[in-house]
Amino acid sequence: MSPIVGIDLGTTNSLIGAMDAGFPILLADAEGERLTPSVVHFPPTGEPLVGRAASRMRALEPAATVYSAKRFIGRRVGEAADEVGFALTGERGAPMRMRVRGHDYAPEEVSALILKKLRADAERALGCEVTRAVITVPAYFNDAQRQATKCAGELAGLTVERIVNEPTAAALAYGLDKLGDRSKVAVFDLGGGTFDISILEFNEGVFQVLATNGDTRLGGDDIDEALIADFKFQISNLSPEAHARLREALVMAKHRLSSEDEARIELPFFSGNESFARTLTRAELERIARPIVERTRAHCLRALQDAKLTPADLDDVILVGGQTRMPLVREFVRGMFQREPNVSQNPDEAVALGATIQAGILSGAVQNVVLLDVTPLSLGIETFGGLMNVIIPRNSTIPIKAGEMFTNAVAGQRAMLIKVLQGERELVRDNWALGEFKLAFEPAPKGHARVGVQFEIDANGILHVLARDTKTGAEKVVAMTSAVDVSDEAVEKMLEESLEHAFEDMSDRVFVEARLKSDELLPAVRQALAQVGAELDDTERALIAQRVAEVEAAIAAGAGQPLKRANTALDDATQRLATILIERAMGT
Ligand code: ADP
Ligand code: MG
Repeated sequence: MSPIVGIDLGTTNSLIGAMDAGFPILLADAEGERLTPSVVHFPPTGEPLVGRAASRMRALEPAATVYSAKRFIGRRVGEAADEVGFALTGERGAPMRMRVRGHDYAPEEVSALILKKLRADAERALGCEVTRAVITVPAYFNDAQRQATKCAGELAGLTVERIVNEPTAAALAYGLDKLGDRSKVAVFDLGGGTFDISILEFNEGVFQVLATNGDTRLGGDDIDEALIADFKFQISNLSPEAHARLREALVMAKHRLSSEDEARIELPFFSGNESFARTLTRAELERIARPIVERTRAHCLRALQDAKLTPADLDDVILVGGQTRMPLVREFVRGMFQREPNVSQNPDEAVALGATIQAGILSGAVQNVVLLDVTPLSLGIETFGGLMNVIIPRNSTIPIKAGEMFTNAVAGQRAMLIKVLQGERELVRDNWALGEFKLAFEPAPKGHARVGVQFEIDANGILHVLARDTKTGAEKVVAMTSAVDVSDEAVEKMLEESLEHAFEDMSDRVFVEARLKSDELLPAVRQALAQVGAELDDTERALIAQRVAEVEAAIAAGAGQPLKRANTALDDATQRLATILIERAMGT
């Protein structure tokens, strides 16, 4: 059996690990480095370069060097407005692609090249073939982003045994499963380009995500940019090559200043014959970085609020992401959460280490932990009248399976359109459409067809929808692949909107449901009047006519509660009519 490797496929850096004699270890490449920059460079001819070699080409040939592919994986054009040095292509609404030297690449193809390199490094380090992997993704990744990540793994020749949430993996690497039941931890992850804060609860052997928040455009890169801007003042005529050299020197200085108080920046023959030399102190760096680090505060507060916790309720706070090596960030976290952050692991290696432990759990090398997560948003399908029918509510622990029976709205209908939705709103149009498909069934009178719809979210967080005509057994299973924007901000926005519109939504739902009832009632009353109306007296007929007018008026007014009342009144007024009709039908 080939080993299962654990992979952190990061926006900035990627890592791979494997279990060795019962211990999770991270594997180094041929140059002895464990961190591989998530960068791919496409030369005019020959194989693409991946990692450090590609990273060096980024400044020289930006248009032929793809970075941050993770920002685009599983996303559609129009969803994410990102500025990058290479060209993005695709029609609005179509999967995002990147164009390099006239060739279009899907983000998963680029990610696959990174995974291929990691896989080759691991095979060299382990001395055997590697074909199975656990890959991590941010907790807020939606179904399409998870599917696309899995697809990247497959393109790289890996069977993806499990997709694991990054904060969950990090918590595992920090050994937080040892904290005991009901312990709550915050995972503060500041990487190169993204900030994620997650609050987890460990319960009966599983981690649950209580809340996630963050900013997909906030990280160490912002500190680098601010530093460069500060230095540019002192230099005139900065060529692209000089700019790249300056960036490299400043980033190195930033790293050194995490352990030293001063860093010397020396760039011989920087512009023409002139050299550049300056000393940067930690205090100067902190002055520049502080406003950027401060931007994480609001997100931490929101996450605590969503989890309904105060800092004092937390049992631990762990640091993840290379930028948390900076003392200023640690100081910030200490102040924010009013406790000493746990720094027992390398922050930029914790996620990969956790993925490796999860791989160990899957292969049986590590026991006693199961990892579970929760659904960030409700999932359901459209039912009559444009209403969202929730099948799996938000915050359900996955893996999960849930189903419901549906019937036909129209007699003789031959197919049912299953429209899969994600979101917290009552009306279909306010939620996100994940995809749709048709299930054909045997024509039946209205309300007689029986179609079972089952949603299953597997351990990777991927949704499989099954629809079955219970009469014929005909069924269709569809894995949802189309993308919607479920970034952390989008989830937050959806939740905010659902609260904001809760009352409106409720009255919308009341109206739609009452309207469906009227649509049944009115034709039935008209038909009954035509058949047996003559048997009623004039006052009875006048009352029914009045009640019908009231129903029609309430429909025209779009008023939910009045329509509900008008339906009931019409129902009452037609009791005798209904009785006569039934007696007639039974021949009594
Ligand atoms: P990602 O999760 O985005 O792939 P990482 O966790 O690898 O990224 O973090 C990369 C960021 O961490 C970069 O901005 C890098 O400059 C920063 N970083 C790495 N080492 C240090 C250090 N010693 N001090 C400060 N920042 C660091
Ligand atoms: Mg990361």
